[in-house]
Amino acid sequence: MSQKVISFHYTLTNPAGEVLDSSAGREPLAFLTGSEQIIPGLEKQLVGMNKGDKQTVKVPAAEAYGEHNPEMVGDVERSRFPADVSVGQMYATDPQGLSAIKVVAVTDTTVTVDGNHPLAGQELTFAVEITDLRDATAEEVAHGHVHDGHHHH
Ligand code: ZN
Repeated sequence: MSQKVISFHYTLTNPAGEVLDSSAGREPLAFLTGSEQIIPGLEKQLVGMNKGDKQTVKVPAAEAYGEHNPEMVGDVERSRFPADVSVGQMYATDPQGLSAIKVVAVTDTTVTVDGNHPLAGQELTFAVEITDLRDATAEEVAHGHVHDGHHHH
């Protein structure tokens, strides 16, 4: 199947109905299909839609940020953390801040941290509107990303 560029607005909510992210007030999000730029469970449903379609899409955890993995929860010596460590804090685990651990429990001697993605184990709901849909250009396919016309590297 030829690759497409799909642009869409979205509002992401968790099972409690809290808004986690939204493109409202920003440019629509544009992505190249088949290049793992958005979560697989969302892409799978967007590719079947047409320009102008509005839909509420539910994505199970396994097709979003994965199930919660208990093996990624573990205890670390408290001395390795700042003195004011507390439940709910996030710490980057790489210099770019691309992955992080969350403090889930603190005792006098240990800190329990959870390295799962914050959205792991959650079914996500996306209210989406397709604002544009077109065939990807050969150059976009070769580069593996969308050229939005504003700039190029
Ligand atoms: Zn490029």
